[in-house]
Amino acid sequence: ARTGEPSGWDGRGGTSDGHRVAIMANIGTAAEARSAAEAGAEGIGLFRTEVCYLDASSEPSVEGQRAAYAEVLTSFHGKPVVVRTLDAGADKPLPFLGQAAEPNPALGVRGLRVAFDRPDLLDRQLQAIAGAAADSGAEVSVMAPMVATADEAAWFAARARAAGIARVGVMIEIPAAALSARAILDAVDFVSVGTNDLAQYTFAADRQLGAVAALNDPWQPGLLRLIGMVGEAARAAGKPAGVCGEAATDPLLAAVLVGLGMSSVSMNAAAVSAVGTRLAGVSRAACVTTAQAVLGADDARSARAAATAGLT
Ligand code: PEP
Ligand code: MG
Repeated sequence: ARTGEPSGWDGRGGTSDGHRVAIMANIGTAAEARSAAEAGAEGIGLFRTEVCYLDASSEPSVEGQRAAYAEVLTSFHGKPVVVRTLDAGADKPLPFLGQAAEPNPALGVRGLRVAFDRPDLLDRQLQAIAGAAADSGAEVSVMAPMVATADEAAWFAARARAAGIARVGVMIEIPAAALSARAILDAVDFVSVGTNDLAQYTFAADRQLGAVAALNDPWQPGLLRLIGMVGEAARAAGKPAGVCGEAATDPLLAAVLVGLGMSSVSMNAAAVSAVGTRLAGVSRAACVTTAQAVLGADDARSARAAATAGLT
């Protein structure tokens, strides 16, 4: 174990019986990347690139983007990093995009949808990411946010591969994408479930609104059933699926996610050690059995109780 960390977590994630689960971090800045490396994250499962440009009044140049991304990636030289292309719109408007006001921004032109009208913007970002990968020596993959269909996934994958990026994935954060995970996985190399938005869209409950927060509880069985479908599709396709939303921050829930077929979990650096330690203390079989019990629960409270009973 690393100095100062609880015993049982040595920086290489997996269950007690040796089933591998990568413990990754979510970051948006170079400082967060350094904290993630210090916390023992094996890589970055979500680099939110829009965080670099929340105040930008004009589009950053390819060279500027390349330098900004390389500064972040350099903390993970030789390690896997998943760079997400700009997830602008809704709760994260980027001034330089000059997007028109919309009555329902969460349902509007956000994430990959921005690129359908402006593919040149995406292509410049992909070019910068490919350059930063070469500069930093990190093992870089890219993924797109807010993908709804297999066609969209294929469109993105073609552009990313044309930019020279070998490993391409998409986020599963729209219920239709979870329902179509098998077809999406035919078009890409991996998927990553964003439970924050997947919960918001599954329960039709604004993720920023305290009044509906109970619906966005990641223990809601309705959400976990969708994640289970993604796990099944990944198994059938022989390709990896992970979780990079807040759900992965809860060590008990992370074990359930492994039981649902997730092969990596990505979270805030602060949770890396606790999640890694928890997974090291449970067998894969217990995760799988418990996950099935959790899927049978009627509400979030009984889902959590079923997990506690099965895994403690
Ligand atoms: C998510 O939606 O779960 C996610 C990880 O993306 P973000 O929180 O950046 O929307
Ligand atoms: Mg999201």
